[in-house]
Amino acid sequence: MRREGFCLAGFSYQELLEKNRRYLWNPFTQMKEYLQDEPLIIERADGVKLYDVQGREYYDGNASVWLNVHGHNHPALNEAIKVQLEKVAHSTLLGMGNIPAILLAERLVKITPTRLQKVFYSDSGAEAVEIGLKMAFQYWKNRGFPEKNTFLSMKNGYHGDTVGAVSVGGMDLFHATFDRLLFSTIKLPYPYPYRFDGTAEECKQACLHELESVLKSQGERIAGLIVEPMVQGAGGMIMMPPGYLSEVEKMCRQYDVLLLADEVATGFGRTGKMFACEHEGVQPDIMMVGKKLTGGYLPVAATLTSDEVYDAFFADHSEAKTFFHGHSYTGNQLGCAVALANLDLYEREHLLDHVQEASRCLADHLEALKDLPAVGEVRQLGMMVGIELVKEKETKEPYPFAEAIGAKVCRKARELGLVTRPLDHVVTLMPPLATPLPDLQAMVSILHEAIREVTAK
Ligand SMILES: *Cc1c(COP(=O)(O)O)cnc(C)c1O
Repeated sequence: MRREGFCLAGFSYQELLEKNRRYLWNPFTQMKEYLQDEPLIIERADGVKLYDVQGREYYDGNASVWLNVHGHNHPALNEAIKVQLEKVAHSTLLGMGNIPAILLAERLVKITPTRLQKVFYSDSGAEAVEIGLKMAFQYWKNRGFPEKNTFLSMKNGYHGDTVGAVSVGGMDLFHATFDRLLFSTIKLPYPYPYRFDGTAEECKQACLHELESVLKSQGERIAGLIVEPMVQGAGGMIMMPPGYLSEVEKMCRQYDVLLLADEVATGFGRTGKMFACEHEGVQPDIMMVGKKLTGGYLPVAATLTSDEVYDAFFADHSEAKTFFHGHSYTGNQLGCAVALANLDLYEREHLLDHVQEASRCLADHLEALKDLPAVGEVRQLGMMVGIELVKEKETKEPYPFAEAIGAKVCRKARELGLVTRPLDHVVTLMPPLATPLPDLQAMVSILHEAIREVTAK
């Protein structure tokens, strides 16, 4: 095992664990359980494998929480950071420019839906969402329609963990605690055919019907509708029936409501298209991206918008139409440089072709999971996979929350050499997009074994 670095080497697992216990509060983590359960401490990674400080290796089965694209420790991405580092690590984007931020903005405008013509940077998906919401809100104000100040959002949606992003979220487990802190939005049902009493088409129509009635009665006070296009990710990998997203877009246009597409999870090829909106030729007014933008290397996110929205802010200083928003590290050079190298690799490696092939390969291997008694539904779009576990296949009876069935399966998978995280009773598989086909097969086999062992009656 490698032992290098100025102060990182030489600590035993026990010493690190003790320091973790004393000093560190991990995100989205029940520390009581974490500290009792021999936590993983990662030392390095290479390709699609993570290596812990005890020298054990694991498949990175959720791409380090949906980020990684070309594998870890990739020479071209490493090099891009080193080259930029020799020039400048960071200078502010407030009132001045920098080379990688400008070039990346051009690149993003070229690869995203054509309506999107301007790029506003931030450091995380949640911030990109905050920016999208504030932008939409101020857009109507600047244009002289301050009454358009409410948002439509989806039940069970997830847009990040800051207060604005939580306000448009709809996952009670994460969000209900903070209810009093949040601004109110109008929550719409999101189609979930597996748990709808009727066909997928009927499920879609029921949701669209509700959207239309809200728009009819309250359209004049609605600034925008925010949605995760094609797939609700953290909500359980729930996929929209075909035609739903394009109908949503159509209604937004009809009632003069901005469409905000949160592509933080789905963007950059995860669903098989560069952006999930492309599945239905949808042209959002505002789009949020993050996660895979830097190949999983550094925190850069972006909110893209149309010239129409941008122009509503373009005015003399005295008109007070400026967008007063920014962060210390907005447009960070190291991050933008590695994002550019990441997008170069998409082209050079014909990554979307690989994603097509890998998705078919995944679909084949996932077939075997459907026979397991505890697998209610296997959902897949591209390389985004959710496996919904049920106590009773016939009745679709869910596992009780307290049973933490997803967590148990993922813990077992870890023993078998694969790291991933559950979404309650839904087990996810979100491998790095460049994962070689044999590794995909190995990952699915591990999940199969983990589910079989944990759910055996
Ligand atoms: C992960 C995620 C976010 C939040 O991104 P962070 O970088 O974790 O803040 C927002 N929206 C969606 C759809 C996500 O999956």
